[in-house]
Amino acid sequence: MYQDLFRNASFWLFLFSIDEDLARRTREKACACGGRLHCANYPRKPRGGGNLPEQYDYRLSFCCDRDGCRKRVTPPSVRFLGRKVYLGAVVVLVAAMRQGPSPRRVAELSRLFGVDRRTIERWRVFWEEHVPQTPFWKVARGRLVPAVETVVLPLFLLNRFLSGGDPRQDFPSWKRLLCFLSPITITGTPSIEVLG
Ligand SMILES: [Zn+2]
Repeated sequence: MYQDLFRNASFWLFLFSIDEDLARRTREKACACGGRLHCANYPRKPRGGGNLPEQYDYRLSFCCDRDGCRKRVTPPSVRFLGRKVYLGAVVVLVAAMRQGPSPRRVAELSRLFGVDRRTIERWRVFWEEHVPQTPFWKVARGRLVPAVETVVLPLFLLNRFLSGGDPRQDFPSWKRLLCFLSPITITGTPSIEVLG
């Protein structure tokens, strides 16, 4: 099922192409000081995916070229959820599969996705306790959720964005979901696009 998606090199290349677009837009804006942004990618060793293209050895990032500034500017990403080791799509999906009327057991998810139980528990805390407090979610929920409604994260987002077709084929829906989440770990006021 979903494990197949996460072994699909086309899926990972698709997400990388979105990250390239996000990075291009960031670079065009230049540094706040007026300096130009130079490539200064972070090395990464992401987990949770199979057949990962070599572009997954790094996260796209920039550094200002002006002496005295040298500020680092990291664009939003649909591949990486901040500093989490596991790929963002995996962190969303596995956490969501613990939720809902027929949650999957931790042992089963651990076996299917190769994630240890403690990590799955940390993701629960991340989604249920950390994310609702972020500036990102405070802005984002107003775009998605009627004021009175309580939501369970991330299941709510998965249902909201991925409802419909076969989630293993439906790359555009993953794009919308992961683009929506991409400002989550960027500092400053989030600008949130709800596409489609
Ligand atoms: Zn600068």
